[in-house]
Amino acid sequence: MSQEVEHVKSFIVGSGPAGYTAAIYASRANLSPVVYQGMEPGGQLTTTTEVENFPGYPEGIDGPAMMEDMKKQAERMGADIRWGVVTKADFSERPFKLETDDGKSFLADSVIVATGATAKYLGLESETKFKGAGVSGCATCDGFFYKGKPVAVVGGGDTAAEDALYLANIASKVYMIIRRDVMRASKIMAKRVMEHPNIEVLWNHVTKEIVGTENGLMKAVTGAVLENVKTGEERKIDIDGFFVAIGHKPNTKLFEGQLELDGEGYIVTKPDSTATNIEGVFAAGDVQDHKYRQAITAAGSGCMAAIESERWLQSQE
Ligand code: NAP
Repeated sequence: MSQEVEHVKSFIVGSGPAGYTAAIYASRANLSPVVYQGMEPGGQLTTTTEVENFPGYPEGIDGPAMMEDMKKQAERMGADIRWGVVTKADFSERPFKLETDDGKSFLADSVIVATGATAKYLGLESETKFKGAGVSGCATCDGFFYKGKPVAVVGGGDTAAEDALYLANIASKVYMIIRRDVMRASKIMAKRVMEHPNIEVLWNHVTKEIVGTENGLMKAVTGAVLENVKTGEERKIDIDGFFVAIGHKPNTKLFEGQLELDGEGYIVTKPDSTATNIEGVFAAGDVQDHKYRQAITAAGSGCMAAIESERWLQSQE
């Protein structure tokens, strides 16, 4: 451990809706939390354009602006928010030990892990080019912008099936691009997808390229070039939106071997709680939730984590 050691009551790892909400509540409970923002300050919402489903914003709000507001609110309550990444966490004894990439070492009486999850993308150059301009990793966030327009969903899991069904009620047509001849999704979801008149499943297809228009900074998706992996045949579909739903990766590498993780790497929390297998360590937001993954549910669990950590700290006194 490096020379400078700070002892804090509450240490929050991550700065999405879960981290910032936990910071607001922990500050108001006098826990003087220190928040390390992580690789992507503001979290996944900073990659979204307009957020229209977070209560309290009748006109909608830009994802980055909403996260800046949450940060300011947490700071106004007294949270100490720092730009940097936690590089080491040792939960083997209390107080917990953490190290950050700015060379600081901490002793923390309680920790809230809110490191989120990262949507997986295909890795195509054209996909990166049109991200936020027709390519999206979140149907519930961006689906509304494709009212009456054709879209595609790539993936064959439950998320892709849910997204396709959600979009089928908004878009004029939904292509579901599946790389095999079976869906990984649960039977009931697969059945719903296949029976929906507005969804066309393209089995054994992979995406070669996303095509679109570029006019200075204005970009828009107009289609996708697909390949049938069985026949090698290429085809182009005309679409305005391309939704990637091939899974998320929870950001839990730092905690492997210490916190209990499920088969997919998500932190396991106690039922109806944010408590982890280690007393005094709580987890909130997408890092422990692969079901809802919404800003509002992440914020709710951030609130829970702060309340639970405050009560736990009190019980230790
Ligand atoms: P998932 O189950 O891992 O499915 C990912 C899908 O994307 C699979 O069809 C996979 O194809 C495909 N895929 C992966 N990489 C790809 C690539 N590079 N190109 C094309 N396709 C690719 O992920 P998920 O759907 O996000 O679900 C994650 C977990 O959450 C699952 O356990 C799921 O059951 C659960 N979940 C539950 C609900 C619910 O209960 N309501 C809702 C959503 C998710 P292959 O099958 O060929 O690998």
